[in-house]
Amino acid sequence: MKILRAQSNGQTFYAELKGELIKRISGLPYDDITFTGELYNLRNVNILAPSEPSKIVAIGRNYAAHASEMKAAMSDTPILFIKPSTSALASGGNIIYPRMSARVDFEAELGVVIGKTCSKVSAEDAADCIFGFTPLNDVTARDLQKVDGQWGRAKGFDTFCPFGPYIYTDYDVRNKRVQSILNGIVMQDGSTADMSVSPSELVCFISEVMTLLPGDIIATGTPAGIGPMQKGDSIEIRIEGMQPLINTVI
Ligand code: MG
Repeated sequence: MKILRAQSNGQTFYAELKGELIKRISGLPYDDITFTGELYNLRNVNILAPSEPSKIVAIGRNYAAHASEMKAAMSDTPILFIKPSTSALASGGNIIYPRMSARVDFEAELGVVIGKTCSKVSAEDAADCIFGFTPLNDVTARDLQKVDGQWGRAKGFDTFCPFGPYIYTDYDVRNKRVQSILNGIVMQDGSTADMSVSPSELVCFISEVMTLLPGDIIATGTPAGIGPMQKGDSIEIRIEGMQPLINTVI
């Protein structure tokens, strides 16, 4: 299924997308899905970020080639950092270039959407906690990341976590291309096959630290080829088989 969150006539709701048709869901989509019977056309609604995360847990250096380009060592255990829920942005929304920074980068990533409350889940049970997958851009103020040491500011600005437009619930993540395209030019062209730690292993690891809630997002790390964006740029994140995530920098 393709799941989205939309706004129409002042109402906000989750829905399933079938072709151009939007089938409104009653409440949240994570447990049993109940349709309200209301139908909309994709062209007549405002598309929002497809979940409302309590937190976005991101992974540093999950692709060896990116760690190498950053002149950083791969770690034995995943490096976790948090992007605030307020950094979420829909596809089509504007990434706001902060006054504090002079270098703002794109990072193409596979986003994992959590479907149930999970704490200390085993590797075998971790896949069951995943609701679906979506394209994500881990926007980063690279200059501030270097200055601060800690990444909270560099990764945490409002609009610095575009994801969507849809969540794909039946998606095999193995061997899928992960690309970023800046103003029509391919900048990153990696594969999920090169991830050091798989999405299920990440759920298992993170849930050992903190409880993951339905709608929470995991940003699974970026392949090599990151680079800066300027005001006016169009940045597109493509995960093979998914509708691309497209944003403009202002
Ligand atoms: Mg990243």
